[in-house]
Amino acid sequence: MANTFTTILDQAKEKHIAVGAVNIFNYLSARAAVEAARDLGVNLILQTSSGTVEHFGARQIFDIVDAARRDAGIMVALHLDHCRSTELGKLCVDTGWDAVMMDFSHLPLEENIARTLEVAQYAHAKGTAIEGEIGVISGVEEEITAAEEVKADYDETMEFVRRSRVDAIAPAIGTAHGVYHGVPVLNFDLVERLGKEDTRVVIHGGSGLSAEAFGKLIALGGCKINISTVVKNTYMGRIRELAAESPDAPIPFDTAVQKAVYEVVKSHLRVFSGLSTSF
Ligand SMILES: [Zn+2]
Repeated sequence: MANTFTTILDQAKEKHIAVGAVNIFNYLSARAAVEAARDLGVNLILQTSSGTVEHFGARQIFDIVDAARRDAGIMVALHLDHCRSTELGKLCVDTGWDAVMMDFSHLPLEENIARTLEVAQYAHAKGTAIEGEIGVISGVEEEITAAEEVKADYDETMEFVRRSRVDAIAPAIGTAHGVYHGVPVLNFDLVERLGKEDTRVVIHGGSGLSAEAFGKLIALGGCKINISTVVKNTYMGRIRELAAESPDAPIPFDTAVQKAVYEVVKSHLRVFSGLSTSF
């Protein structure tokens, strides 16, 4: 099945680069990410958490992203990140999102497969792609908290990919959501083995890894890298700085915040697309 999401990932995999999947939460963050990708001439995935969709509504997020990606001259896919609600996943499919990630990784394997497959069949019938997760990626992803990480195993991951019919797979490889305390030990071997398979490997918890670690994960076959924490922290950090300067007009304020998000996304996209080996 070919749609914008899978096409972007297939092109990246072919070129041995990765696409940045940037978590956005309003028009400003979406536009900043699109402009960063456009200026580098690379494709992009914009994604939101389930909580963000519940807050704004699937239609409004779709419209925000559609406005942000119009006339960008690159491919921009809209994707739902970590969704545990079948209903919400199907709603995004019905609203025209390019892809949805169903995350039933906290359930036993058989249940993870069955529940992911249900949405995969629904999504594929409407031309929407689907990402699944196996193992448990630790840290905090909005309302989803995984205290202890369960690393994914190769055979189980491939069984999951085949039976759940996902278009992309996020295996737990030792990356985490949020802020790293120390240097994470990553399962490069699993990424390498999965990278040779006929699937698309997604790396979650991309905020805070070294450019070197990213380079290695991408060379081994990781073709989608999620960044969320670094985007949110930059957004909030710049707002705090600007607010302390007692601004009196919204447009210069928003422009400065957008510029900060643009810069941080751009520095990551440069590394993901092989244009730079450091941030
Ligand atoms: Zn994630």
